[in-house]
Amino acid sequence: MSLILLASLFPLFSLVSAVVVPSTSLAHSHDSYATTTTPGSWYHQSSHPVHTLFRRAPDDGIEYPPVGSPAWSSGFPRDAPDPAQLPRQWVDALNAAVSAGKIPSIPISQNTPGTNPTYPGGANPNSPGICSATYKCRHVDDIWDAPNGVFASSFDDGPQPACLITPKLVDFLRTNNVTTTHFMIGKNLLFYPSQFQMAFSAGHDIAVHTWTHPYMTTLSNEQILGELGWTMLLIHNSTGGRVPRYWRPPYGDSDNRVRAIAKEVFGLTTVIWNQDTRDWSLTTNGTTPQIVQSSMHEWISGPKSPGLIILEHEVSDQSVSAFIEAYPSIRSNGWNFASLAQVVDGKVYQNADNSTSAVTMVGIMPGSISSASGSSTSTLTTASSSSSSGNTMSAESTNSVKAFNAATSLQGRMSSAKSFFLMALSFLAVNSAV
Ligand SMILES: [Zn+2]
Repeated sequence: MSLILLASLFPLFSLVSAVVVPSTSLAHSHDSYATTTTPGSWYHQSSHPVHTLFRRAPDDGIEYPPVGSPAWSSGFPRDAPDPAQLPRQWVDALNAAVSAGKIPSIPISQNTPGTNPTYPGGANPNSPGICSATYKCRHVDDIWDAPNGVFASSFDDGPQPACLITPKLVDFLRTNNVTTTHFMIGKNLLFYPSQFQMAFSAGHDIAVHTWTHPYMTTLSNEQILGELGWTMLLIHNSTGGRVPRYWRPPYGDSDNRVRAIAKEVFGLTTVIWNQDTRDWSLTTNGTTPQIVQSSMHEWISGPKSPGLIILEHEVSDQSVSAFIEAYPSIRSNGWNFASLAQVVDGKVYQNADNSTSAVTMVGIMPGSISSASGSSTSTLTTASSSSSSGNTMSAESTNSVKAFNAATSLQGRMSSAKSFFLMALSFLAVNSAV
């Protein structure tokens, strides 16, 4: 977003700063661990239902609204997504996956503040049926370790505007001619588009960190759909149609049900980590710069098998500074520094190698990009709607957009915004998935 537009939306950003979840509540709460074996698989299946949810065609005519514009942000939830107002295609894909037996029916965990989520009835989170990453159960499909000798870099919780945190990180990496993977929070991306653009245009890799940063195992299947789907969609719309390939669960909280929905519905591979600096707590006295540097030095100077995936955050000036201070020793110790998303097989997105390569037209069948009524664009239907017309923006979205616009003096743009929203969603296939 240009500085002019940013300035024109200053009231918006004042509002946003008051509603965005405080950084401290976005913290991760894990101890580090790297005691189990390296996963045998470093890739996910290349064929799954996501290709019918995020389609592009050579002549589909889609023009994505400028990132940061009112048309771009319209229609997206301003807070936790309403599970009753999801695109029908997502819900159909979930239901099909459930019917096919691909989504384990394990209990939803209970969130107890200050501790890890627990399962009802004393169910063992480390049992093969649940395999909770929070409890250090490593599922073979998840990524925990980097290849030998590789420092696989990533940062969580961006984009962030305060103290120019994200720009500071991007500038440093550019100076050193390297990139990283940003596991971005959808809601933050919605509110801080210029910081997103700075990272994406610098060639960095964009991955999913959910819409509002919840403990995912505490959510219903439909809530999980919303947290992942809206984030994927906004990234898709903001990157020229790229479909994210990787996601990291907030707090590392995932289990067989959550990872199955991510994989079977959206084609996402779950990424955890094998070391945790606890840098997220630098601003709350949970750790100190000295402790972070000591930990980093221990890992960087240690064995190179497996490679390192260190949990780091672009959540405060202190956390970014901690990485910058440690960077020279990463190099001097002979690590191959690389963006995490590029070290698997070089393909960062499900339909593109990276941020500058061509976008592949995935899942395209001739004539598939059309609505049931034969118009030039597909339609979006909400799962709770019984209407067959399909051209409906959810009531929740409409209300939130109205409030959003009222607060930012953007009234009067709703009509065009709605049109843009529907157009931006037009790649959603009308056919049932799976
Ligand atoms: Zn996070």
